[in-house]
Amino acid sequence: MAGITPAFITAFLAVGSAMALGAALANQGNTSVVPECVQACSHLAHIFGPDAYSLGNANVTLWDAKQQGTHSACWVQPSSTEDVSTILSVIIDTSCRFAVKGGGHARDPDDSVSAGGVTIDMQKMRTVEVAPDQKTAKVGSGHVLLSLYEGLEKYNLTTLGGRVADVGLGGYVLGGGFSHLSPKYGLAMDNVFEYELVLPNATVAIVNQETHPDLYFALRGGMNNFGIITHFTMRAVKQGHLLGGVRAYTADKRDAILEQAYELTTSWKNDTNMAFFYSYGYDQERDDFTLTVSQEYYLPVLSPAPFKQLNRIPFEHSTVRLDRTSRFSIESASATPPGGRNLFATVTYSPSADLDRQIQDIMAQEIQSLEKAPGFYPNLVIQPLYEAAIRSGKERGGNAAVALLTVLWKNAEDDERMNAFAQEWVERSTATTKDAGKHHPWLYVNYASKAQDPFLSYGEANLQKLRRIQKEVDPQGVFTSDGLCRGYFKLQ
Ligand SMILES: Cc1cc2nc3c(=O)[nH]c(=O)nc-3n(C[C@H](O)[C@H](O)[C@H](O)COP(=O)(O)OP(=O)(O)OC[C@H]3O[C@@H](n4cnc5c(N)ncnc54)[C@H](O)[C@@H]3O)c2cc1C
Repeated sequence: MAGITPAFITAFLAVGSAMALGAALANQGNTSVVPECVQACSHLAHIFGPDAYSLGNANVTLWDAKQQGTHSACWVQPSSTEDVSTILSVIIDTSCRFAVKGGGHARDPDDSVSAGGVTIDMQKMRTVEVAPDQKTAKVGSGHVLLSLYEGLEKYNLTTLGGRVADVGLGGYVLGGGFSHLSPKYGLAMDNVFEYELVLPNATVAIVNQETHPDLYFALRGGMNNFGIITHFTMRAVKQGHLLGGVRAYTADKRDAILEQAYELTTSWKNDTNMAFFYSYGYDQERDDFTLTVSQEYYLPVLSPAPFKQLNRIPFEHSTVRLDRTSRFSIESASATPPGGRNLFATVTYSPSADLDRQIQDIMAQEIQSLEKAPGFYPNLVIQPLYEAAIRSGKERGGNAAVALLTVLWKNAEDDERMNAFAQEWVERSTATTKDAGKHHPWLYVNYASKAQDPFLSYGEANLQKLRRIQKEVDPQGVFTSDGLCRGYFKLQ
């Protein structure tokens, strides 16, 4: 898109083509288009053509049915930072609403699929450039974790990535990013050395600790409030085969698992090769609970010391093995396929087997008060945030357990009671952790429900700083809750 300027774009305000597009949108039944966006889409169609512009979301992976059912005025797929800047210029010139889609794993309309506006789909931006010393890699923000892992594995490298193949690097890193490498290096966002960012005024900034210390601070956990990231320069680490996989257990093993989870979170916290998380899920058909434990060890050791006791507990089935990170991510994706309606909610507390049990029990009690719902599957994932997670761990107040309630269901008519179920769990679990004197204020934005405010949990001083930085870089409020990009979690 070399040489395209905002003035040139303005010259494309061709009334005729905008009208034709309006008719096309009406023909496809898309009546919810924001009027300003008919013009924006008309410009984008001219500039990008059919290879990168479309009216629908065919061939796009969206995880949640609520986002799948969201209609945008049009979709555009940039291939470069310059493209993103051009798109943002068009959008701002026309005052059209928009959303940015990474891997599409957010759960509500407008989070990453614009309701009636333009969806900017980053999936063509998947470059991998490894530095000569192989200690960093500059990667496109449109990667999903599988494409990123596969790109780096060619060099026997990996980076701080999550567990599931089709989760997008963009949303994952901008929120924080739990990885099997987090005990060693912190969250993914603590391992981004530089961002290439299209600012809210559509200009490009290279953001690192030296060039823009404030923005660099803000982008670590500030989500989609400061612009559109086009590239991340991230830590690269050597990675061959490693230990990974999942073991499933019947509910009668809960005491033993709780004890081991506590041991792994506390006694074994200094073995930073080790990471794990476990979950307690409800099977509505069998009216019973099952547990799964995911084992991760950075080295190719089949039964490392931290997991020796855990490995003595009889299990139902196991995928624990030595393999590549990419292969484990494909396995995890098959366990979390797209298509259902989902919500997440979270609480954080100081590690305690007793509290794990109590918040699991709260989930179980709340399930009893619900009528059966088609496709209902609640699951409580608990994973440690290790003190050894360097800067991030210290700033967030040390060793903690992060609990993520995931709720899956099928029908829209159950949305309200599913939200109420999750909210009740949050309120009761939060009160329980407070009563135990173990409440931890931090809420992971990527695990929070829309009824929670993760930015409040960053502390008043950090919140004020984030708000000040946002005012400075986005005086028009393009990325605020009243602006053009309103979805997901907003600072104001
Ligand atoms: C099945 C599943 C597994 C998960 N596993 C993990 C895990 O192991 N560890 C972990 O920490 N989290 C995990 N998560 C949470 C996950 O990190 C978040 O849901 C994340 O926001 C998803 O990012 P995405 O790019 O796929 O989603 P999207 O819906 O595309 O994006 C999420 C938000 O980020 C914004 N965004 C995306 N890219 C950009 C960009 N380039 N510039 C500006 N804004 C952008 C979007 O606009 C949107 O608001 C998981 C979630 C799911 C559903």
